[in-house]
Amino acid sequence: MAIWVIADKCTGCGLCVKACPYGAMQVQDKLAALGPRCTQCGACLEACKFEALGSDLADEPRPDLSGYRGVWVFCEVQDGALARVSLELLGQGARLAAELGQTLATVLLGEDVEGLVPELAAQGADRVYLAQDAGLAAYSTLAYTRVLSELIATHRPNILLLGATPLGRDLAPRLSRRLDLGLTADCTELAIDPVDGGLWQTRPAFGGNVMATIVTPTARPQMATVRPGVMALGPRRDGAQAEVVRHPVRLEPGDLLVRLLASQAQGQRPVDLGAARVIVAGGRGCGGPQGMELLAQLAQALGGELGGTRVAVEEGWLGQARQIGQTGVTVRPDLYIACGISGAIQHRAGCLGARYIVAINRDRRAPIFSVADYALAGDMFKIVPAMLAALKGAA
Ligand SMILES: Cc1cc2nc3c(=O)[nH]c(=O)nc-3n(C[C@H](O)[C@H](O)[C@H](O)COP(=O)(O)OP(=O)(O)OC[C@H]3O[C@@H](n4cnc5c(N)ncnc54)[C@H](O)[C@@H]3O)c2cc1C
Repeated sequence: MAIWVIADKCTGCGLCVKACPYGAMQVQDKLAALGPRCTQCGACLEACKFEALGSDLADEPRPDLSGYRGVWVFCEVQDGALARVSLELLGQGARLAAELGQTLATVLLGEDVEGLVPELAAQGADRVYLAQDAGLAAYSTLAYTRVLSELIATHRPNILLLGATPLGRDLAPRLSRRLDLGLTADCTELAIDPVDGGLWQTRPAFGGNVMATIVTPTARPQMATVRPGVMALGPRRDGAQAEVVRHPVRLEPGDLLVRLLASQAQGQRPVDLGAARVIVAGGRGCGGPQGMELLAQLAQALGGELGGTRVAVEEGWLGQARQIGQTGVTVRPDLYIACGISGAIQHRAGCLGARYIVAINRDRRAPIFSVADYALAGDMFKIVPAMLAALKGAA
């Protein structure tokens, strides 16, 4: 694609300069000019009121995508059970499917996983594409990519959602490459364009400082991943039935290059902050491991989990699995107590789904207070012991 300036129409008004997100447009000698930073995103074309910018984009034939229908959720199975993120995506998928007037389907791959179908129906699935084979018992990139690619080529879904888990982050890009599709990773919001029915895929960009909404106008399915904890569960439909479509699996030796010989559970108790109802989180204001230990006591007294900011993790006061935020986990507890945390946007991105946020900070202007339901301005080393004493007194 190329963009050019039509000199006899350009007024040098500068609208294109304002619209360009890359600072690639300038006005020189009263005429718009494209600089080397142009990515040909097309923002200037939309902004120009004088039809003074030409492009060959319109000349490219648009594929007919009308045959692609249905919202699909790839269902992840962990230790024989459905991963919570898949259930969250079913809730979100049901909303998108209802808006489009299309069906919600899930794709279930594995060995002997048919027993999970009733739960998928209860979580909103109208249809389950089921592929069972010994070669699918443990996740492997090539085997799962083959089966999912075949299913997509045969049934042509409109939208495909996957969890942004280690598995989803491996599978989704491979599928995207194999089928020449787009992929928006780590979406925080999904919505349907009321005009053309396309999927609006919103995610943080530029280090979390802007939210970017991405569309996929020329490929189907529209594919997005969403991190665990970002979407809420949908309502259950106990007793609901789902149509089961069985897919015959024919794996080639080339799909089974990786064999799982053994798996070993981690020695430590795995942390699942996504499922915690109460989280006490600490930041730089903890001052060190002792401050974090104080918060661990509060978390224990409330029957909750301990989490924190990236600073706390980088300082070595907390394990990586407890980092909350854009590059950590997203949480939705009933109660989130943020102690000594400034509330940077990258941290807030991970805790905004909490029902109640209590913030303790000695700086009254700390950004965390702008999202807190209860703001306690003061020293956490005075407030937290007082809370512990009150909890002890109440016990
Ligand atoms: C691409 C990118 C991704 C990132 N991802 C994440 C992420 O996933 N998660 C994340 O958390 N950060 C992330 N960050 C870092 C983020 O920008 C902030 O730097 C970080 O969240 C700040 O951590 P903090 O609040 O612990 O520290 P600070 O910002 O230094 O804040 C410390 C706060 O403690 C308060 N305080 C100090 N002493 C006390 C006391 N005794 N009592 C009460 N309050 C006290 C201070 O007033 C201050 O507000 C990311 C950054 C980038 C660029």
